[in-house]
Amino acid sequence: MTTPTFGIIWDMDGTLVDTAEHHHIAWRNAANSAGRNFSQQDFANTFGHRNPEIIKYLFGSAMSEKDGEELSNRKEQEYRDAISKHGVSLLPGARELIEDFHRNGHLQAIGTSAPRANLEQILKQTNISSFFAATVTGQDTQRGKPNPEVFLKAASILNIAPNKCVVFEDAEAGIKAAKAAGMRCVGVCTGGHSSAEDLKSVGADLIVPNLTRINRDIIIGLF
Ligand SMILES: [Mg+2]
Repeated sequence: MTTPTFGIIWDMDGTLVDTAEHHHIAWRNAANSAGRNFSQQDFANTFGHRNPEIIKYLFGSAMSEKDGEELSNRKEQEYRDAISKHGVSLLPGARELIEDFHRNGHLQAIGTSAPRANLEQILKQTNISSFFAATVTGQDTQRGKPNPEVFLKAASILNIAPNKCVVFEDAEAGIKAAKAAGMRCVGVCTGGHSSAEDLKSVGADLIVPNLTRINRDIIIGLF
């Protein structure tokens, strides 16, 4: 077998797991507690972004950094409590793809805007930690997606050149980040939060309705 020449970087929320509803409820409760409405459009506008950017979007300079951090922590605690209570499972096709890449020797990472505690809880609840050689969270970066920092950091830990990495993403911000990093990018529409046209317009190399519709051979074809 020849040595695989590319690595895989996974977005988490909306790509590996669909946790949008729990995020939405937790954000709405957090925003309401600080006197702000949180609409469907607000959710769409902030999807895939890090909390510091979301707090800024919601409150501008009206909220201090310290209050923003507290609000963010409350929101994430409520979210984690919800997924503990309701459970979380991998989206269709995710486990099969992760296992197939692993079997074929591809190094894999997660590059997420979420805080580390969320990532660890999801990995534990879905029992997939052993497949990942690197995990980079919103807390490990200074600038969130669409900045490429999270994916560049993941590639660097994997020790694979950015142009030999493939990112799986469901959000426009993440696809922009992957392309800015010089990586191949597969747009995944499973969650239905962005349309195929939207993901294509920001540069996804390939769009799939869900992860059951793709395999390793198709990914090899991207290079
Ligand atoms: Mg996502």
